[in-house]
Amino acid sequence: QVTIDKIAAGEVIERPASIVKELLENAIDAGATSITVEIRDGGISFIRVTDNGCGIEMEDIPAAFLRHSTSKIRSAEDLSHISSLGFRGEALSSIAAVAQVELITKTKDSTFGASYRIEGGKGGHPEETGAPDGTTFLVRQLFYNTPARRKFLKTPMTEASHVGDLVTRLALSHPEISFQFRNNGQSKLHTSGNGSLRDVIYHVYGREIASHLLEVDFEGRGIHISGCIGEPLVSRGNRNFENYFINGRYVKSSIISKAIEDAYKDFQMQHKYPFTVLHIQVDTEIVDVNVHPTKMEVRFQNQQEIYNSVCEAVSRSLHHDEL
Ligand code: ADP
Ligand code: MG
Repeated sequence: QVTIDKIAAGEVIERPASIVKELLENAIDAGATSITVEIRDGGISFIRVTDNGCGIEMEDIPAAFLRHSTSKIRSAEDLSHISSLGFRGEALSSIAAVAQVELITKTKDSTFGASYRIEGGKGGHPEETGAPDGTTFLVRQLFYNTPARRKFLKTPMTEASHVGDLVTRLALSHPEISFQFRNNGQSKLHTSGNGSLRDVIYHVYGREIASHLLEVDFEGRGIHISGCIGEPLVSRGNRNFENYFINGRYVKSSIISKAIEDAYKDFQMQHKYPFTVLHIQVDTEIVDVNVHPTKMEVRFQNQQEIYNSVCEAVSRSLHHDEL
């Protein structure tokens, strides 16, 4: 089991940002409204993620670290209607296989919290402890037991920037959750969680971009698109400022990017690639979310439908501004 976990972990855990991604998705699934991420040395020596979500019952803790244990799929039928971010039940086991993990958690209904340690896939027994409602994960010394893999890590600065990008994306996809990110004791991001996407954009990209945004709001053909579009401040020859989320998940898609750019082009803007943050809600039956765990590409059953909707959403928003 331990060896299998170590191998499987390589699929999911490539770097500190992959750990933070899994822990944040779990915190979001747990209904947290406030999440704090702290890292040291780019997350290689230390990651702490604290949430105020539902917590884990003491007796359920060891099982949560077993491979393919998830509380999120109850029947095979659920598989075709995946709405929660996690659904494979292998994140915690993978993380615990390649790092030293400490967990402190408490549910609202229990009087005491519980703490638990597991490293290299070997766990102890949960112990009673005082704790606030919610969950804290501490992950130390990533790849301490797989030196070969540690060699593939980049500098702490580069790893920290990957973590920062990730927290930023999740903050943009969840304006209703307050995110804090601290790197080596320094606060890098703190969003309010008041539900306003514009406020998050302001915190992440600054006043200049946030104050020149157009609202996008489109509904049709089973697709709902909302968010913001604007001119990027600096011309970048890439799509770095094109952010979009399908059913809450940050993805890359050449079809969506092309639709955004084609619609934008018609308005003879200064730049080729606009600044966007778009939330695209589609029926889970027409989007295949079952892609490789670490890849971001998403597949559509009906590409033309998605393309047309995104084009129309962007065009309408830009048109509206002209009137
Ligand atoms: P998955 O998210 O795919 O279910 P994970 O390995 O990421 O699998 O997590 C295993 C289980 O541990 C989850 O199904 C959930 O029940 C529990 N869990 C993990 N993180 C948290 C958290 N922050 N708050 C509450 N429960 C959690
Ligand atoms: Mg998960």
